[in-house]
Amino acid sequence: MIEVDGSIGEGGGAILRTALALSAVSCKPIHIYNIRAKRMKPGLQPQHLRGVEALTKLTNARVEGLELHSKELKFEPSAIEGGRYRVDIGTAGSTTLILQILMPAAAFARKPVEVEITGGTDNPFAPPIDFLKNVTLPVLRRMGYQGEVECVQRGHYPRGGGIVRAHIEPIEKLQALRLTEPGRVVHVAGVAHCVRLQANIATRMAHAASKALIKAGHAKVDIRAESYPPTQDPHLGPGTGITIWAETESGGILGASSLGKRGKPADQVGREAAETLIKQLQTGRAVDRHLTDQLVPYLALAEGESEITSAELTSHTLTNIVLVEQILDAKFEVEGEQGQAGRIKVKGRDLPEKIAYL
Ligand code: ATP
Repeated sequence: MIEVDGSIGEGGGAILRTALALSAVSCKPIHIYNIRAKRMKPGLQPQHLRGVEALTKLTNARVEGLELHSKELKFEPSAIEGGRYRVDIGTAGSTTLILQILMPAAAFARKPVEVEITGGTDNPFAPPIDFLKNVTLPVLRRMGYQGEVECVQRGHYPRGGGIVRAHIEPIEKLQALRLTEPGRVVHVAGVAHCVRLQANIATRMAHAASKALIKAGHAKVDIRAESYPPTQDPHLGPGTGITIWAETESGGILGASSLGKRGKPADQVGREAAETLIKQLQTGRAVDRHLTDQLVPYLALAEGESEITSAELTSHTLTNIVLVEQILDAKFEVEGEQGQAGRIKVKGRDLPEKIAYL
């Protein structure tokens, strides 16, 4: 059994998610201890519990320690089955973070995977659903990943109630990714949304973000405003946020987002997202700070040598690298310091045949 100390680096839920996802995809049993040791409420919270349960079903795993607040887990995956799954987080916990656990293994299932998840779609400290749909998945598709995600209904803290559906087709392997020179930005797109709030909140966010982007020299900016009239608003809300993304000449996509909250002016929310994106684009790197940590496991699973440049090497990225090296026995080359722009190179480990061709 591979021993994983959940308190290393970031010491949060990301270690749990990455370790489980890698265990599942490589069919290696793991024992994780000190789960989320550096968080205010350590151990498994409802959203982690639901994520592990879903992965347990997907991989026919044997699991020990699966209970609320548990700080230790033994996970022994077996065949990745595929089929239809439903996960109700029961809180506003992030639906996209549940997908982060499931997505690597789902790509190597025997059958297509359909999963419907109820919870939050636009949460702090998690990829907004529009980021997963418009940044993460399109870049993963360049590696041969075949997945789609649909936001059926949005969910925000504290009420949740968002619904997300994902469809993932089995593939035989992932191809290496080279995203080093972004080239010019060809287009900036985005979605500014509000639910159970006045429509002008979404339009003001979209307008403020567009204005900042145009001022920074981006000519083609297309940010859509999404809102719902009170009689046709099925959300539990209220909630609001904006996600924007820049497509570059080399086929790279860098994203940024900002969430609204009571008392925070809509214009400020829009500007914040734009400024975050502009700052990252100014680094001249091809991958944004969040996508970088999300790509790490996939790069190590791809066939051949991958290389990306990153607008910022976060502690999440560096923690994910340590974990991937430990679990998959891959070796990364990292140029740059934490908090700075950098470059990551890795020669992917082929999956054991047992998994790749189940
Ligand atoms: P937990 O709260 O479960 O302990 P955690 O604090 O460890 O988890 P994070 O480690 O913050 O959770 O992981 C969050 C994941 O969400 C990372 O992959 C990160 O890149 C991603 N993420 C966070 N914020 C954004 C954002 N604004 N846009 C895109 N991705 C994001």
